[in-house]
Amino acid sequence: MKIYELLQKKRTLSFEVFPPKRTDEGKEGIFATIDALKELSPDYISVTYGASGSNSRNAAEIAGYLKKSGIEPLAHLTGGPSSPEDIDRTAQEFLSLGVENVLALRGDKPVDCNVEYCKYFPHATDLMEYLKKYPFSLAGAAYPEGHPECDTLYKDLEALKLKQDAGAKFFVTQLFYDNSYYYRLVAEAKKIGITVPIIPGIMPLLKVQNIKRVKEMCGSAVPLEFRNMIEVYSDRPAVMEEIGLNYAVYQIIDLIANGVPGIHLYIMNNAKAAEAIYSRLERVFRELF
Ligand code: FAD
Repeated sequence: MKIYELLQKKRTLSFEVFPPKRTDEGKEGIFATIDALKELSPDYISVTYGASGSNSRNAAEIAGYLKKSGIEPLAHLTGGPSSPEDIDRTAQEFLSLGVENVLALRGDKPVDCNVEYCKYFPHATDLMEYLKKYPFSLAGAAYPEGHPECDTLYKDLEALKLKQDAGAKFFVTQLFYDNSYYYRLVAEAKKIGITVPIIPGIMPLLKVQNIKRVKEMCGSAVPLEFRNMIEVYSDRPAVMEEIGLNYAVYQIIDLIANGVPGIHLYIMNNAKAAEAIYSRLERVFRELF
């Protein structure tokens, strides 16, 4: 099933999982997570791909497990340090497992980045062009607060348009905690001819130390109002978690009321968090998705 076709018919609910880092690590944990997520009837589940390509086998195996479980996988694929041969190998593996949808990315440059990184695929658009020889339906990443390497959102929007031109049929956004960034992105994207759906990505903030991590990894701002709520209870993990879940629910309700094409939940393999959000919104998901 092509996800972009589904998006033409309905609003989608999706989750993101990540594979174990090492190939020799057991997969039972992630398979159990997927089994639990299946109960929440997601339209698809995306599987991340290591920027170094090192866990490509695990990513493919998990995408294959999703397909066998009757859940559509959205397999991430990063150009990063890969050669065309590496990409061909993974693409063939994806195809043999029935993967139809690929989220094509550049990948995060490692801190100790050498010049060889992105030698063949300097940008997601280069990977998208290369993947055109395969029958995948492509998606790309969008950044409500602008990509950290861009000085302005408007510069980044030009790149977003290039991704659409290179074949991206929909976008999934970086996580954010202030919905106005997402609304601005969608409005400005429309002005420059971006017509494909932009699906907001929401990650419940469940631990106080994640405020710093989120800022470092994605540059996403945590609004002061929310920050205050969680920092007050930083020594009460259960309270903090409850606040984080409710804030995610609040963001989702606001997004739905503003007509989003879908909701993508970054659940960091935490099926319990997905269940907690789902149960709070079950009737909304049933009626409006
Ligand atoms: P690009 O689109 O190449 O953008 C990188 C920078 O270059 C931006 O500043 C952009 O404005 C600019 N740019 C883009 N195209 C062009 C162009 N043609 N010419 C000039 N400038 C251009 N990382 C992983 O390692 N694995 C994952 O599985 C993963 N999944 C992700 C899923 C989502 C939904 C998101 C939002 C991010 C994900 N990331 C993942 C992180 C991502 O790899 C990083 O954010 C990375 O720094 C940029 O990837 P990109 O595909 O957006 O790159």
